[in-house]
Amino acid sequence: MSASRKVLVIGGGISGISAAVEASEAGADILLVEKNPYLGGRVAQMNLYFPKLCPPACGLEINLRRFRTSPKIRYLTEAEVTSITGKPGDYHVSITQKPRLVNEKCTACGACAEACPVERPDEFNCGMAKTKAAYLPFPTAYPMRFVIDSEHCKGTECQKCVEACEYGAIDLAAGEKTIEEDVSAVIVATGWAPFQAETIENLSYSQYENVITNLQMERLAAPDGPTGGKIVTPSSQDPLESVAFVQCAGSRDENYLKHCSGVCCLASLKQARYVREQYPEAQIYIFYIDLRAPGRLEDFLADSEEDEKLELIKGKVAKIYISASESKLVVEAEDVLGGRRVQKQVDLVVLATGMVPNVPETIDQLRQDDDGFLVAEEGPSAFVAAGCVRRPVDVAECVRDATAAALKAIQWHRG
Ligand SMILES: Cc1cc2nc3c(=O)[nH]c(=O)nc-3n(C[C@H](O)[C@H](O)[C@H](O)COP(=O)(O)OP(=O)(O)OC[C@H]3O[C@@H](n4cnc5c(N)ncnc54)[C@H](O)[C@@H]3O)c2cc1C
Repeated sequence: MSASRKVLVIGGGISGISAAVEASEAGADILLVEKNPYLGGRVAQMNLYFPKLCPPACGLEINLRRFRTSPKIRYLTEAEVTSITGKPGDYHVSITQKPRLVNEKCTACGACAEACPVERPDEFNCGMAKTKAAYLPFPTAYPMRFVIDSEHCKGTECQKCVEACEYGAIDLAAGEKTIEEDVSAVIVATGWAPFQAETIENLSYSQYENVITNLQMERLAAPDGPTGGKIVTPSSQDPLESVAFVQCAGSRDENYLKHCSGVCCLASLKQARYVREQYPEAQIYIFYIDLRAPGRLEDFLADSEEDEKLELIKGKVAKIYISASESKLVVEAEDVLGGRRVQKQVDLVVLATGMVPNVPETIDQLRQDDDGFLVAEEGPSAFVAAGCVRRPVDVAECVRDATAAALKAIQWHRG
């Protein structure tokens, strides 16, 4: 592969996958580097997508199919870029790849996980479940191959997974690899992380198990999630009579995140539909500052407003505490339009926490705005940002952004 026609894509979420596909179909060779053991990023954790409410496999799968079948795309999982040197059109990249400890012979039969004696927190399910140290990240993961978490695995002294694997797919002694590559341009598509809800003192996330984040709600509702898709209280697995969504949890707030994450209003309206689907009689409250449903997404808001048991309350939540009977959570807020203070008793509170950009710390060339999102370098640059690391947006916008990034990146091809 000639360096002059190779593009490095960092991040294998919907933005990185889309950028890789678009640039490769325009003739570029691609190396995609993803730090997780699977591709798909945060979209893989969603239950359904707004506005169409289809499962993430839909949109993701279309681009993943193009990705999988392209002879021009190579990818590394559990890998991170450690340095980039050089100049636009001619960079040298160093990458470190953690050992997966499971090779291509894996058939995903699951015998290793059955035999594995150690458990680890399941970060794909936002800590609401556990997996074995030998695990498949989720049932439709790509690549469809088990991985062994070396931080929790007992190593060569245990060997139970090695003995259980009849395909010889496990190598517990495999070590870290360093990979060196020459590329002409770099697309940074490292996405977002959820804002740390425990830092927002008045919203009691660390205090009550039944106060969860919007990402946890996606996992609770997902058929492959910790409850098999049943939305129940995490504390006692009880069905719900009432739910409150707290918008701008930490967002648009000088003390935490100044920016609006753009998608949280639609995400909560979507999650209210998840609740309605399972509980036709449940009372739902959404506490908001402004409800932002731009462009064609306004129809989604209008349809939600038809729900008679969905109350939209304009007002910032002051505090969340436990009721005197200790059976419910109480959400207290100023109802700005009603001109009064309200207390609503609910079984579950969902905090609509915003997006924090994931900016790789090892790459010196990146410039950030005041909120941490990537901005273009001044003058011609072969570093192009795409998706939520550039600004908080929905999937459709990420895909458009990725196409634009691919177009910019391939301009640096020589010859
Ligand atoms: C609660 C919630 C619900 C949502 N629901 C919807 C919805 O219904 N419809 C919709 O359109 N949008 C929705 N969104 C928005 C959607 O999640 C984003 O638009 C999408 O995830 C952005 O994709 P991305 O590829 O830019 O980033 P990500 O999905 O974050 O992917 C980035 C990838 O980069 C990898 N990475 C990070 N750092 C590095 C590194 N240093 N090196 C290598 N790899 C790295 C990550 O592991 C990840 O795989 C929702 C958002 C939230 C918060």
